[in-house]
Amino acid sequence: METVNIHALLNMSSLITIIVLCLILVMKMERIKQLQRLAEKLNRSLKEMDEQAKLIIRTDMELNKTQEELDKKVSGLYTLQKISRALSVTFDENKILKHLTRSDVEELGFEKCLIFMLRASEQLFSPVLLIGYSAQELQETFKTIGPGLLALIINEAKNISSISGDAPIQKERIRKLFNAEHFVISPILPPEGDKGFIFMGSSSPEIVITEGDEEIINVLANHIGQALENARLFDKTYQAQQTLEKKVEERTRELKKALEEIKGVNKRKSDFVSAVSHELRTPLTSIKGYASILLAERLGKIPKEVKERLEKINKHSDELTRMVNDLLDVSRIESGRVELKMQPQGLKEITDSVIDLLQPQLKDKRILISLDIPRGLPNAMADRSQVERVFINLLGNAIKFTPESGRIAVRANVKNEFIQIDISDNGIGIPETSLPFIFDEFYRVDNEINQSLKGTGLGLSLVKYIVNAHKGDIWVKSRLNEGTTFSFTLPITR
Ligand code: ADP
Repeated sequence: METVNIHALLNMSSLITIIVLCLILVMKMERIKQLQRLAEKLNRSLKEMDEQAKLIIRTDMELNKTQEELDKKVSGLYTLQKISRALSVTFDENKILKHLTRSDVEELGFEKCLIFMLRASEQLFSPVLLIGYSAQELQETFKTIGPGLLALIINEAKNISSISGDAPIQKERIRKLFNAEHFVISPILPPEGDKGFIFMGSSSPEIVITEGDEEIINVLANHIGQALENARLFDKTYQAQQTLEKKVEERTRELKKALEEIKGVNKRKSDFVSAVSHELRTPLTSIKGYASILLAERLGKIPKEVKERLEKINKHSDELTRMVNDLLDVSRIESGRVELKMQPQGLKEITDSVIDLLQPQLKDKRILISLDIPRGLPNAMADRSQVERVFINLLGNAIKFTPESGRIAVRANVKNEFIQIDISDNGIGIPETSLPFIFDEFYRVDNEINQSLKGTGLGLSLVKYIVNAHKGDIWVKSRLNEGTTFSFTLPITR
């Protein structure tokens, strides 16, 4: 019985052990599964990290590339700015087209450069700049460079480049033609004058070009076009200026010649007037002399009628003598034969003495004359007898053209380096249309007074000559039926 129990016990314990072992196994398996899930998770994370690392590396590489491109662009822009600045100050077409150097081309990221211009006169493209090519090397290119392809660039006014999408056939042709792997061709299109294009290229496949490079070459071609236009405009302006200068020189020469001729004619006129006046003075003096003798009845008594005629002869010969004297004066002053004796002159003394001289006429017409000459007025530097003639003429006219009981005013003032004298009257005035001619020789206004009183029309021109000879000025302001003011200046004594 005991043996059965022992067996049963043993079986029981084995069963329990097996159950325990099974339980442990189940738990272990569960643990393994957990570990496996963890390992899978870790694996996934590792993969993700790997992906991210790859992404970071890729981004870093792209960033580096972008940085490189940016650096290249900045350096290209810097070179472009340098070239543009130099182009903007050149007005020589040859210098503009030959300005680019090998180092400029390299700084722009290329190896070779060509500039071709289509000479309107020759109707063919000729190379004006070769960098990285020999003329020999391009011989074939020149031959094959059909107007077709390149005229297309100019006509369409657009770039062709090895990276642009369109025209693949053209690109292959260009690669062969210019022996370049990468290239940019940009048209040079000044608004007027010869057009052309710039070619930039590189044969090594490592040198990669970007859209930025294409843009820079396009801007460069535009700047060259603008510089060519500026040069053309400058040349045009320069030519116009030269022609103008030549014309001005020619005209000046002609004017000088004309002036010389006028001077000659003027001198001959003055000589003639002076000679005639002299010749007239002698017979006039004897006519007046004989008339005076007869009038004085030194040769016997004469009848009243004869006396009256003789008085007329006397009066008219006086007028004639005055006229001849005026003529002589004008011609003498005009031809510079009168030498001015310049000395300090007090204006007050001169006006007083002239008014004294004209007292009879003033009294005759009961004209009131007022003087306004400041006490401390500086002296004028002038020839006394000539200035007296100026006053006599101007005051004489003022009296002549002012009705009875009229008023005349004389004023003097300092104006800068001069003394200005104004002689005003409230007489008949001068019509506006006559003012521009009033100082002309022999000019007289057609009015009642002039019709009844003789005059030569020489007085004012004489006055103007005298004032101008003193480096002074003379002008007139007048209103018909209201009055006239003649103003003139004389230099102050320093
Ligand atoms: P003349 O007195 O011999 O005619 P002038 O040369 O002195 O010659 O003057 C020219 C003309 O200017 C005069 O005929 C007159 O018509 C006009 N004139 C000059 N002074 C005056 C004045 N103060 N008032 C009006 N008219 C004047």
